[in-house]
Amino acid sequence: MKRKSDLLRENPLFHSLFESSRVGQIILDDQCRPVSVNRRMYEFFDLNPNQKTDMPFGQIFHCSSFGASCPACGIDRNDRCALMHAIKIIQKGGMIDNNTMQFSFCREGREEIKWFQLNGSSVTCRNRTYILLIFADITDLKQREKRLKELLSLDLATGTTNKYGLLKSIKRRVRADNEQQYSLCMIDFDNFKQLNDLYGHLFGDKVLEKFSDIAHRHIRKGDILGRYGGEEFVFIFNSIDEKQAFQILKRINTELTQHFSKTTKQPVTFSAGIVAVDGGCQAMSYKELLGRADQLLYEAKNLGRSRAMGQQEGGLL
Ligand code: GH3
Ligand code: MG
Ligand code: MG
Repeated sequence: MKRKSDLLRENPLFHSLFESSRVGQIILDDQCRPVSVNRRMYEFFDLNPNQKTDMPFGQIFHCSSFGASCPACGIDRNDRCALMHAIKIIQKGGMIDNNTMQFSFCREGREEIKWFQLNGSSVTCRNRTYILLIFADITDLKQREKRLKELLSLDLATGTTNKYGLLKSIKRRVRADNEQQYSLCMIDFDNFKQLNDLYGHLFGDKVLEKFSDIAHRHIRKGDILGRYGGEEFVFIFNSIDEKQAFQILKRINTELTQHFSKTTKQPVTFSAGIVAVDGGCQAMSYKELLGRADQLLYEAKNLGRSRAMGQQEGGLL
C-alpha cells in the first residue's frame, strides 16, 4: 500500500500538481523515509507506480551502492551519498538549488547512471516537517555534453586525439605514479611535402587517414594516439619497452607502405623517435619527454628516414 503524507491528503491541489508533474518528486518524513513518490519518479526508473514506498530511497530505486557502501540509505549519515548530503542541508534549514547529482542504479542486472538536477526544501504541515525533493532528469544533456567534450578533443580529419587532448593525456600519463612502464613515440612522415606536390593534398590527406586506420588496429585499449601537428603524431604504448615499441612501429610502417605501394613511386613511410619510460625510475616532465622524442626523431631523419631511433638503439622500419 502506498502511504500518503498529510501534505498531500490535505492539499488536493498540491496532490494533483505533485502527481502530474513532469519532474520527479519525493516527500520524505522527518526520519528521511519516503512517504510519497510521484508517478514521474517511477517512470525515470521504469518502476511500477504501485510499488511500496516505505523502504529506504536506495532500495526503492535500486541504488547500486545500497547494501554495500551505503547500508541504510535514507537513515545513514554517509557523506559520500549526494542525496544524504542534500537531505542534511535541508534538515539544517537550508535549501537545495539546482544541485547536479549522479545516481547509479541497477536495472535488469546492469548498472546504469542517471543525472539529476536536484532541488529541495522542507515543508511543514500540521506541525510535521517534511522534506520535498525535486528531481529533473538531465541524463540526455549530460551525455550530449560528454560527447561534445570528446569531439572537442578529436582531430576530425583523422579520428585521432587532437593536440589539446593529446597533451592532456600525456600529462595525465606522466603524472600517474603507477610504476607502469610505457613508451612514447613521436613520428613524422617522410618527404610529405613532395608527396603532396606529386599527388595532390587530397592524396596526402588520404595517407594520414589510412595511417590512422592502420595505427588504431595496432594499438591496445588505454594506449594513446594523437595528432601533434600537420603530419606528426604521438603514440603512448602502455607496458611496452623500446624494443617492443620499435616492432609495433615497424608493423604499422610496413602495412602503410604496402597499402600505397602500387599508387606512389616513392614509398610512403615515416620516421620515429622512441622514449621508453621505466615505471617510476625516470622523473621526466612531459615537456622533457616530448623534447627527447623529438630529438631522436630528428636523428632518425638525419640517418636517412623510414627509421626509428630509441635511447638504446634504432634501425630501419
Ligand atoms: P621530412 O621527411 O623532412 O619530414 O620532409 P617533409 O616534406 O615531410 O617535411 P615536413 O615534415 O617539414 O613537412 C610537412 C608537410 O606536410 C608540409 C605540409 O604541407 C604537409 N602537411 C601537413 N599537414 C597536412 C595535412 O593535413 N594534409 C596534407 N595533405 N598535407 C599536410
Ligand atoms: Mg615530414
Ligand atoms: Mg613535419
